[in-house]
Amino acid sequence: MAKYVFVTGGVTSSLGKGIIAASLAKLLQARGFSVTIQKFDPYINVDPGTLNPYEHGECYVTEDGAETDLDLGHYERFLNIHTSQANNVTTGRIYQTVINKEREGAYLGKTVQVVPHITDEIKRRMLLLGRGGEYDIVITEIGGTIGDIESLPFVEAIRQIQWELPDEDVCVIHLTLIPYLRAAKELKTKPTQHSVKMMSETGVHPDIIVCRTEEPLTNDLKRKIALFCNVKQNAVIEAMDASSIYEVPLEMLREKLDVICLNKFGITDFKEPNLDKWKAFLDKIKYPKSKITIGLIGKYIELQDAYKSILESFIHAGAMNEVKVVVQNIHSEFITPENVAEKLQNVDGMLVAPGFGERGIEGKILAIKYARENNIPFFGICLGMQMSVIEFARNVLNIKDAHSTEMNKNTPNPVVNMMEEQKKVKLMGGTMRLGSYPCEIKEGSLAEKIYRTTHISERHRHRYEFNNDYLEQFEANGMKATGFNPDTGLVEIVEVPAHPFFIGVQYHPELKSTVENPAPLFVDFIAAAKVFNEKRTAQKKEVGVV
Ligand code: GLN
Repeated sequence: MAKYVFVTGGVTSSLGKGIIAASLAKLLQARGFSVTIQKFDPYINVDPGTLNPYEHGECYVTEDGAETDLDLGHYERFLNIHTSQANNVTTGRIYQTVINKEREGAYLGKTVQVVPHITDEIKRRMLLLGRGGEYDIVITEIGGTIGDIESLPFVEAIRQIQWELPDEDVCVIHLTLIPYLRAAKELKTKPTQHSVKMMSETGVHPDIIVCRTEEPLTNDLKRKIALFCNVKQNAVIEAMDASSIYEVPLEMLREKLDVICLNKFGITDFKEPNLDKWKAFLDKIKYPKSKITIGLIGKYIELQDAYKSILESFIHAGAMNEVKVVVQNIHSEFITPENVAEKLQNVDGMLVAPGFGERGIEGKILAIKYARENNIPFFGICLGMQMSVIEFARNVLNIKDAHSTEMNKNTPNPVVNMMEEQKKVKLMGGTMRLGSYPCEIKEGSLAEKIYRTTHISERHRHRYEFNNDYLEQFEANGMKATGFNPDTGLVEIVEVPAHPFFIGVQYHPELKSTVENPAPLFVDFIAAAKVFNEKRTAQKKEVGVV
């Protein structure tokens, strides 16, 4: 029987519940426990796949093709494990299950209600991952903030689980904010007291309170929070703002979050955590040997969460190369033929981001042309790869009206086309080509050099593809397809071998990059950018600029 940790949030959103949950999981894993994390989100969408990145940040895709919350990305990056559809549940999915059962007649004769039918389904899913014997500890993060109307059924489910299971099987952690009032030069505990009181009114009382704070919590303050929130003083944990999310597990180790949690479970026999690899990684990000600049070209750059996994992959790959990767956000919508050179003058490499729809694509195409012609390392992901294909068709193959049917349904030259299986799809949710697919890599290609193998599998999320009718023409003129799906022949990787580093991939390698296993494509892209930077610095020195 697994033990269950629930993580709730109070006072305000965006406190970093996902990072605290992932950090606790990392520590427990480092002590030898088998841990998984799941996220319960209180919105009505069945999954975040239909949400705009501005609304919800990146949509994280798992191996089994689930479109999930970006916190699952943190879980995978911290723990180096795979999550799945079962690890992310929304209110929409709960209701969908209950309503489908109602239509099948499962509740025949009964009035179907929030309590007990919705709460029973929530409980079933909360306990599900702990039932298979695979995990010692299941951590469940509850999205939203205590006091929100929509998270009430989740809190009620936790209350019932707390009542049904032995005391030592459940631990509730409440993450809250202790604001610092500059004028009064004081940390304020009242919002936390109110938040815990509100949660207690619903029948759930926290065992541990984790306090996000800009200033250190004194012992007096910890005592005050403990006294008025009715928890033990050592169960009030300070979570200071950290310079990197990867510091947080060590911060939580210092505060003994994992030990207090294990004590609640009545577990006293555990080993010292083995965090050697983690610490080595942290050293590398703290003390880089040099610095490079990568241009991230996309249309959602105002919102950093939209490209979360890409940004984290840069950190992992930077550590491997012992460089600091400075990301220069370049809005694709504002790139013009006149300003492209100026906008890209300082970048050592360019990543053209994934995306959907027309906005900003001409800017992406201009940037890719510039990178191709000026030997700047180029890495295109999904839409970024598709745009590199269109750029090559227009400017090298001289097919001026080449396009993707996503942007122009009636283009005479659809070099990027809707996949056959997608043409009959009517529903929008969960119907893209999703999840992990195998890819065969051509020997002697850049991709083979990067992956050091010819068989890989990577995760996908798209409806359009490279149009194989044009393949011969591309290959004859210098753009090679070097990765294929073995079952369908879909092109998954394109390269320009005459260029020092030009690669576009139809899949999302950023989704599989973890602290322990950085994505090879990112590692080699950053290495290529490092070489570009060194060459440029040497050239500048030669002409006396630096
Ligand atoms: N919009 C493109 C497609 O559906 C690319 C998707 C993406 O970048 N994830 O094929």
